[in-house]
Amino acid sequence: MALYYHCRQCGTEMGIISASGKSYRDLGFGLLSQQDQEEMMNVDQAGHVHVDILCESCDEATALNPDLHEQTVWIH
Ligand SMILES: [Zn+2]
Repeated sequence: MALYYHCRQCGTEMGIISASGKSYRDLGFGLLSQQDQEEMMNVDQAGHVHVDILCESCDEATALNPDLHEQTVWIH
């Protein structure tokens, strides 16, 4: 399987990690609560995991504008 990291705000693809032979725990997801995992991670039909995170620029933007956290999708 592979993990695809996308920014949940702007949709930028941030990286792909081949996770063959690794468990969620190895990848650090064991630190997340079950709820966080369900919110952040989606498994597609091929068994690949899509992880929604914040990219650096969106992270900075939301730090400056906390209200933006309320929005799930930004309109460009
Ligand atoms: Zn972003």
